[in-house]
Amino acid sequence: MPTPRFALIGHPVAHSLSPRIHAAFARQTGIAMDYGLIDATAEEFDDALAKFAAAGGKGANVTLPHKARAAAACESLSDRARRCGVVNTLTRTATGWAGDNTDGLGLVRDLTDRHGQDLRGRRVLLIGAGGVAHGVAPALLDAGISGLMIVNRTDSRTDALADLLGDPARVHPRNFADLHTQGVFDLIINATSIGHAADGGELPLPQSLIAPRGDVVDLGYGEASIGFLAWARAGGADQMMDGLGMLVEQAAESFNVWHGVRPSTDEIYAELRAESGLTTVA
Ligand code: NDP
Repeated sequence: MPTPRFALIGHPVAHSLSPRIHAAFARQTGIAMDYGLIDATAEEFDDALAKFAAAGGKGANVTLPHKARAAAACESLSDRARRCGVVNTLTRTATGWAGDNTDGLGLVRDLTDRHGQDLRGRRVLLIGAGGVAHGVAPALLDAGISGLMIVNRTDSRTDALADLLGDPARVHPRNFADLHTQGVFDLIINATSIGHAADGGELPLPQSLIAPRGDVVDLGYGEASIGFLAWARAGGADQMMDGLGMLVEQAAESFNVWHGVRPSTDEIYAELRAESGLTTVA
């Protein structure tokens, strides 16, 4: 029997750590699987997914810029994917693709289990309203935060995410210009891709937004997170975290969706952390 095929579909994907993470999970659990990379632009996505299905593909992770498109390509959605409005995990069924989203659980598990955070009652600022912001927002609300303020460069996307979340008592869309009048935040999350900008752009954020003993997380990792975490350090943040732990945790949950087994993440996380040369917990 051929080895079951899985893949990450995105653009670009060449430097993704996902094949390595899933290979480690497969070794650990003794499950045979092949996890490859499919580089497909927005125009190529539907075709690439159809070809993968025709070639016997069993499941796929989806990354930027395709998470909304992937949701539209699904025949069915899990509850959490429906609440996010975007999909990062596809599973092939007899009749089509089933969509799920593991980003939110991945972030919450990293923050609570790895970094010892208690999210209950915390006032959270979410910067960004793209695929990953959609993925993590419902899980943050479920974890018991007291409020979620969302800001994004494009205001219409902020409003769309707030509307989708449907929790007006806790979810507040704002724009960057208003932030200096909004008080301080216990947890600030950078869910933008600004860390990848060729011009090394900066978000228009006053450091006074960080509450005393407030924490900051950048969902990017490696070099992409350095600028934002430097901003957090200069602003006196308590814990500063990057997205490497979330990356490993969302992958473990996708593995669980596909194989019904939740791998341990400690070893591969430690390996990738050591290689990154970056310590992100202060
Ligand atoms: P999207 O392309 O869907 O969204 C990008 C977001 O960044 C949008 O909110 C966009 O604003 C904003 N943005 C981009 N450039 C700028 C800029 N110059 N100034 C201000 N805002 C900007 O990407 P994703 O949501 O999928 O990914 C975002 C980040 O999260 C990436 O760095 C990615 O690596 C990381 N990520 C980490 C994961 C993990 O497991 N750790 C998982 C998935 C993503 P606008 O709407 O105005 O365009």
